[in-house]
This record gives sequence, structure tokens and C-alpha cells, in this order.
Amino acid sequence: MKIIMLGAPGAGKGTQAKKIAEKYGIPHISTGDIFRANIKNGTELGKKAKTYMDQGLLVPDELTCDLVVDRIGQPDAAKGYVLDGFPRTIPQAECLTDALNRLGSSIDYAIDVDVPDEAIVTRMSGRRACLKCGATYHIVYAAPVKEGICDKCGESLVLRDDDKPETVQKRLTVYHEQTQPLIDYYTKQGVLKTVDGTKDLNDVFAEIVSILGE
Ligand code: ADP
Ligand code: ADP
Ligand code: ZN
Repeated sequence: MKIIMLGAPGAGKGTQAKKIAEKYGIPHISTGDIFRANIKNGTELGKKAKTYMDQGLLVPDELTCDLVVDRIGQPDAAKGYVLDGFPRTIPQAECLTDALNRLGSSIDYAIDVDVPDEAIVTRMSGRRACLKCGATYHIVYAAPVKEGICDKCGESLVLRDDDKPETVQKRLTVYHEQTQPLIDYYTKQGVLKTVDGTKDLNDVFAEIVSILGE
């Protein structure tokens, strides 16, 4: 099962993608997590990506596409995967479609987690991230057991630099300009499914499971 998660920054793509990966036994591939791991490790890719991410801009397509095509070619992705945060532009979607076509394959579901802009800003200001294991929390809606500490690995949680309100506004603008056109793109491919992302996160997941099957 090959799945793409679409939706604004903070819509809950990552939260749902992790649950999908767990239930269906497929890898969760997040380009944001890959970039943040590279930043943490001080790689060349990380240095380049950071300058864009800090401004709320997208990392250029050339730095993103090959990375994902390479990742989905790994053995653990042979049975499928859930892509979270990719594609984010039409050229990225075309790059993915072409790469899959070459393998005689295609995306099965593009799930759009729909949340209006007004709700996004509140969600982002409460998001806390673990930069060690990639887990995500919310101070109100998905709090860790011990405040400020990752349940999974014990690392201190942080407010991501790009989750500050000024940067969130910029990211929303970028989303509407560059990523929203993908809804049309995947509608035309006949694979788009929209879920109401304003519901409780377990209810959103139940809606997704009703689409993907038990
Ligand atoms: P969110 O969880 O808010 O949707 P991500 O963790 O997916 O954010 O991405 C954080 C940042 O990483 C983005 O704002 C962008 O700068 C960069 N990024 C992630 N994925 C991509 C991509 N597919 N193309 C370009 N930039 C990306
Ligand atoms: P994205 O990957 O789309 O940027 P996340 O999954 O990181 O979004 O979710 C953004 C924030 O909102 C996180 O703090 C997360 O815990 C919280 N969150 C996710 N889904 C819901 C939901 N259905 N209701 C309330 N908060 C949510
Ligand atoms: Zn952790």
C-alpha cells in the first residue's frame, strides 16, 4: 500500500502517518524528519536545508526528489510506505509519478487531512517535538506523560524553530501557493481521499482506516 499524506503544516499528517505505519506495517517516510536529522548531524544537506526551513520556505525540489526516490527504493519500502510531507510541489509530484511509472507502479491513496488555517496556528504553538526520535506531542491534545520529556526516548522536547507564529504564517502562504495544487493533481489521478482533520485524532484515524480497510 503506497500512501501520500497531504494537508497544511500542522494538520496532523505526521500524527496520522505514524498510526498508519504502525497498523499496516509499512515505513513512515517524513522528509521533514530526514532534513531535521541531517541538520542535527551537521551534514551538507542539513546545512542547505536549514536556511530554507528557518524562513518557512520549501527546500528546493532538486534537494528533495532524489532523496525520496532513493528512500522508497530501499528493501523495507518494497511492500509500501506512507509518505509524509512529500510531495509538496507539482514538480515533486511529477518526479514521484515518473519514478513509480518506471517501476510499473503508482500511488494507491493520497489522503488530504483537511484543517482550516485558523485552527493551524493554535496547533502549531502547542506542538512539541523530539528531535532525537521524531515523536510529536501537543501540550493540550497529545501531552507526554512527563511534561517536556519524550515518552519514547526520554529526550527533552522542544518547540521547533519553524513553529513560531511568524514562520507558521509564512508556511501557510507557501502551502496555499505551492502544495494545495496537489489536491487537484491527485484528484485527477483518482486517488484523493479527504478526511476531516479538525476531529479528535483517534476519530481522524478511524476515518482513515475506513478508507484503507481493516
Ligand atoms: P510540517 O510537519 O509542519 O508539515 P515538515 O516537518 O513536514 O513540516 O517540514 C518542515 C520543513 O521542512 C518545511 O517547512 C520545509 O522547509 C521542509 N520540507 C519538508 N518536506 C519538504 C518537501 N517535500 N519539499 C520541500 N521542503 C520540505
Ligand atoms: P503535521 O505533520 O501535518 O505538521 P502534526 O501531526 O505534527 O502535523 O500535528 C501538529 C500538532 O497538532 C501536533 O502538536 C499534534 O500533536 C497535534 N495534533 C495532531 N492531530 C490533532 C488532532 N486531530 N486534534 C488536535 N491536535 C492534533
Ligand atoms: Zn523521543
